Amino acid sequence: MSKPIYLDNQATTPLDPAVLESMLPYFNNKFGNAASTHHSFGHEAKEAVEKSREIISKELNTSASEIVFTSGATESINLAIKGVSEKLKEKGRHIITQVTEHNAVLDTCSALERRGWEITKLPVKQDGRIDPRMIEDAIRKDTVLVTIMHANNEIGVIQPVREIGDICKRHGVYFLVDASQSFAKISVDAKEINIDLLAFTAHKIYGPKGIGALFIKKKNPPVELELQMDGGGHERGFRSGTLPVALIVGFGKAVELCSRDRDAENKRLKQYRDQLIDDIMTAHTDVILNGSREQRLSNNLNLCFPGIEAETMIMNMKNIACSTGSACTSASLEPSHVIKALGYDTELAHTAIRFSLGRFNNADEIAAAGKMIINAATAAKQKKSNYL
Ligand code: PLP
Repeated sequence: MSKPIYLDNQATTPLDPAVLESMLPYFNNKFGNAASTHHSFGHEAKEAVEKSREIISKELNTSASEIVFTSGATESINLAIKGVSEKLKEKGRHIITQVTEHNAVLDTCSALERRGWEITKLPVKQDGRIDPRMIEDAIRKDTVLVTIMHANNEIGVIQPVREIGDICKRHGVYFLVDASQSFAKISVDAKEINIDLLAFTAHKIYGPKGIGALFIKKKNPPVELELQMDGGGHERGFRSGTLPVALIVGFGKAVELCSRDRDAENKRLKQYRDQLIDDIMTAHTDVILNGSREQRLSNNLNLCFPGIEAETMIMNMKNIACSTGSACTSASLEPSHVIKALGYDTELAHTAIRFSLGRFNNADEIAAAGKMIINAATAAKQKKSNYL
């Protein structure tokens, strides 16, 4: 069997070789603790950490001191949601989110719900986007936080964060954005969009796993939150724990590469994606593209193949690495909560497959993948008709 084609870049991306190279010295002779600034080993490590923080803050148009390193987006989201809720519990215990969020948000909200907070989970339209007016209507006196993702991990749909930011600012409610899938792929100016907190991660942008960050706004107004990790007071006290210098260096390098090549990369991936959509939907006219085609990440393709279980398609496409839901829920027999939120019945939702393209895919792979996908659907339909 030839090498599988990796089309699961929204689950995680391979490490860019330049990122790996940037990290290696920090696993080796540059091993200092960034908090040990009383000697040169520590200095060297601290300098490397601060350089990455600078690169990352520039990407978001924030100041470097507003970036707090964490172990990944899940931790950043926990820190933001629990931290704000606990800090503002006297003001109110109401949080607004939407049904298509990642479980990192939904489960964190559920944990607070069990402790007495009230969570409003707003529906999305059939194209996967939320209507910002629904958020405005849902805001109450006791609302302390609105948390809406930038781009969806399953269907790639991009949410109207600018409009939502304006609404939150007008109502004096904190706005948290889970930008795990969009950070450094779509340029975001956190100040301009009125974002108070933004969670993101390195392993979706060709960086290492185990490192992420949270932007915490410092001014107009500063975001207050209850600490979730007690200890040595690292990261301005927001996240204690010795910093993984090598991972942070790799994170910075990954962001640098993304922002340098973003336009060309998005253009190329969109071309590949559109070619796949058009080829597949021409060969199988019943195939449905899930979520908005226009307001969508350039690398995402999520399709329903009516009448064909996603598992059957996956078995028929052994040489393609893709996903039947988000990576985190694909082990479950339940259909994806995101696809169901688009208004599909359970049977149709079970046919959804996500193909997510990335930097290291080339035109030959995309052409080969297109043929394999079309053949897999043809074979499944043929098998079904033989049984009838
Ligand atoms: N939020 C979204 C939208 C994601 O896609 C992911 C990763 O799958 C996460 C949060 C969690 O990120 P991490 O793996 O860095 O904890």
